[in-house]
Amino acid sequence: MLSDFVFGWFSMDMGIDLGTCSTLVCIRDKGIVLNEPSVVAVRKGTNIVLNNGEAVGLVAREMLGKTPGSISAIRPLKDGVISDFEVTESMLAYFIRKAHGGGIVRPRVVIAVPCGITDVERQAVIGTAERAGARKVYLVEEPMAAGIGAGLPIIEPTASMIVDIGGGTTEVAIMSLADVASCESIRVGGDDMDEAIINHLKKTYNLLLGEARAEKVKMQIGSVTPLEKELTMEVAGRDTISGMPRKIVITSEEIREALRSPIAAILETVTASLEKAEPELAADLIDNGIHICGGGSLLRGMDTALTNATGLKVQIVEDPLSSVARGTSIYLENLEMWKDTMDRSEYGRLQYATSRV
Ligand code: ADP
Ligand code: MG
Repeated sequence: MLSDFVFGWFSMDMGIDLGTCSTLVCIRDKGIVLNEPSVVAVRKGTNIVLNNGEAVGLVAREMLGKTPGSISAIRPLKDGVISDFEVTESMLAYFIRKAHGGGIVRPRVVIAVPCGITDVERQAVIGTAERAGARKVYLVEEPMAAGIGAGLPIIEPTASMIVDIGGGTTEVAIMSLADVASCESIRVGGDDMDEAIINHLKKTYNLLLGEARAEKVKMQIGSVTPLEKELTMEVAGRDTISGMPRKIVITSEEIREALRSPIAAILETVTASLEKAEPELAADLIDNGIHICGGGSLLRGMDTALTNATGLKVQIVEDPLSSVARGTSIYLENLEMWKDTMDRSEYGRLQYATSRV
């Protein structure tokens, strides 16, 4: 539309990856302009965002764990979908405002959403983004955005498989001809790995660890397959019996064992998805392999474990934490082209449920 073209000169259209852990905003020609934790600090028991709506993202994370009783830091997307719409709206409004930098015309926005969400949830995301300041909102399936961002040939007549291991969810999708042929989403991701580490230390050492420290353990010594040189790490927590702070040394072997259950859930979802795939698409994947992204793809040996489970070659996409955001921005640039494919696809029909403006 002409109006879109004209507005395009004044507004900074943006692609948004609204993740459970972090939100990224990508703008054409500028790249990733915002990358902040999806965290909001509110007055306890209310949805009132502190600092006049500015206690969001990095600022809110600073407050995490150090908040006095009257303040709580919320992750409004904890389980992969928006669990608290009001808070998400405040968060999105802040991010859009910040990324937009006081532009005159309200931006068009593409938001990546998990493919498992319902029509009602889609409409809610659109409404939330509109109220948060978007002129027009489009939704794209997360794995599709990840595939575009990773430069996979998803519009070609050949299958691509994306496994996106995020904080709250893991999505496994097979795409071909610019369409999602199948997508499975489980509510298991990096958060569950952190929780598994917390539970292990509590059970084995009576040591209570906070979430941030558990995440650090995962990143520093966590693994899926045996390491050439196993690692150790000193961690501090609170003794559950004496109540006093205490330090212990843990090994990568025991952490690998602790991570077994969430990892198994992820591997099973991938193998199940392959078993259900159309034979033609499955055959394509022998050559094309599997591409993994999201923070969880960086866990040591994740790629090897997936190869062992499937027999396929597995590749971590370039910059796996930003592929979805980069994909949303490219998607927005090529909206006219995608509209054709959106009209005919089952998933596209839903995607096309854009805002009314
Ligand atoms: P989301 O899309 O849900 O916001 P991300 O793709 O940003 O999630 O991934 C965040 C998750 O990835 C977190 O659980 C984080 O701990 C985990 N993660 C990030 N880097 C690493 C790493 N190097 N090793 C293991 N896990 C990681
Ligand atoms: Mg993500």
